[in-house]
Amino acid sequence: MQQAAADSQPPPALERWLAGPRFGPLPVRGAGHAPPALSFEFFPPKTEALEHQLWTCIRRLEPLRPRFVSVTYGAGGSTQARTHATVTRLVQETSLVPAAHLTCVGASRAEVDAVARRYWEAGVRHIVALRGDPPAGESYAPHPQGYPYAVDLVAGLKHIAPFDITVAAYPEMHPQAASRMADLDNLKRKLDAGASRAITNFFFDTSVYLRFLDLCLAAGIDAPIVPGIMPVTNLAGLRRMATLSGVSVPDWLVHMFDGLDDDVETRRMVAAVVAAEQVRLLQANGVDEFHFYTLNRADLTYSIARILGVRPQPPMAAPPPPTPSAA
Ligand SMILES: Cc1cc2nc3c(=O)[nH]c(=O)nc-3n(C[C@H](O)[C@H](O)[C@H](O)COP(=O)(O)OP(=O)(O)OC[C@H]3O[C@@H](n4cnc5c(N)ncnc54)[C@H](O)[C@@H]3O)c2cc1C
Repeated sequence: MQQAAADSQPPPALERWLAGPRFGPLPVRGAGHAPPALSFEFFPPKTEALEHQLWTCIRRLEPLRPRFVSVTYGAGGSTQARTHATVTRLVQETSLVPAAHLTCVGASRAEVDAVARRYWEAGVRHIVALRGDPPAGESYAPHPQGYPYAVDLVAGLKHIAPFDITVAAYPEMHPQAASRMADLDNLKRKLDAGASRAITNFFFDTSVYLRFLDLCLAAGIDAPIVPGIMPVTNLAGLRRMATLSGVSVPDWLVHMFDGLDDDVETRRMVAAVVAAEQVRLLQANGVDEFHFYTLNRADLTYSIARILGVRPQPPMAAPPPPTPSAA
C-alpha cells in the first residue's frame, strides 16, 4: 500500500528537469523590433457617467496610435444613434481612425444603406460589417427587405462607397453554422465580397486560434485574421458572453478566478497576466496584429500593449475631415 503511494508521487524536481520536456523562452523583443499593429473596440455609452468613462479610456489609448478604433452597434441596431454620435465625435475630436460597426438585423436594406451613407458623409471610411444577433430569446430571421447575412451587407456597402470593411471570424465556429467548413466558406465569401480583414471572436486557448489560421490558409484565405483579445476580469460575465457566442472557457481559467468574486484587485491582476501570456504566446508564433475588446476601460489594454512593445507617441494633428465625395 505504502509502495503504491510512493509510486504515485511525482518524481523529484531535478529528475523532472532531466527527463521532462523543455520549453524555449518566449522571444525577447527589444527596441529594434517594430511594435505590433493594434486596434481597440469600444461600446457606445448609455449614461453621462459611462460617456465620461469612455472618453477617459479613449484619451488614454489615443497616444498608442492604434490602426483604428471601432464602436459597436447594439443588438438589433438598438444603439444606432449612440454609435453614430460616438463615431462622429471620434472623427471630429481625435486623431484616431474610427470604424463603425453595422448590422443587418431588424432593418431593411434602405435603412441600413441610409446609415452607411450618413457615416460616409461624416467622414467615416471603415465599417465592421456584421449580421448581428436577434433580441435575447429570439432566433435569427432575416428582415424581409433586409440584408440576410453579413456577406450581403459587405457587397451592399461596396456599392455605396469604397469603404474599408472588416468582418467577424470564429476560431471555435459560429454557433449557428451548419459545419466548420460552411463557416469557413462563409468567411471566405465575406472577404471575397470586399472585406479586407477579419477580427476573431475572443478565445482563450491560443492553439485554437493558431489551428484556425491553418484552416483559413487551407481554405485559400489570405486576408489578415486579427485575434480579438478580451482581458477577462469577471468570470460570471464572461460565462454569459461565452455561452451566447459559442466560446469555450477552459478549466484553468475558471480555476484562476475561483474564489475571487469579492477581490477586485486580484482579479484585475490575474486578468492582466492571462491576457499578457496570451498575446506573448501569439506574438512568439508570429502574430503582429491584435484587436482589443477594451470594454471601455484603458488600464488592462494599455499595460498589455506596453508588454507587446507598443509605446505612446506624441499627439498627431487631427486629419482634416474627408470630403463626402464618393457616396
Ligand atoms: C469582431 C466582432 C464584432 C462584433 N460586433 C458586433 C456588434 O457591434 N453588434 C452586434 O449586434 N453583434 C456584434 N458581433 C456579433 C455578431 O453579430 C454575431 O456573432 C452574429 O451572430 C453573427 O454575425 P456575423 O457577421 O459573423 O454573421 P454572418 O457572417 O452572416 O454568419 C452568421 C451565421 O450564419 C451562417 N450563414 C452565413 N450565410 C448563410 C446562408 N446563406 N445560409 C445559412 N447560413 C448562413 C454562418 O455560417 C454563421 O453561422 C460581433 C462579433 C465579432 C466577432
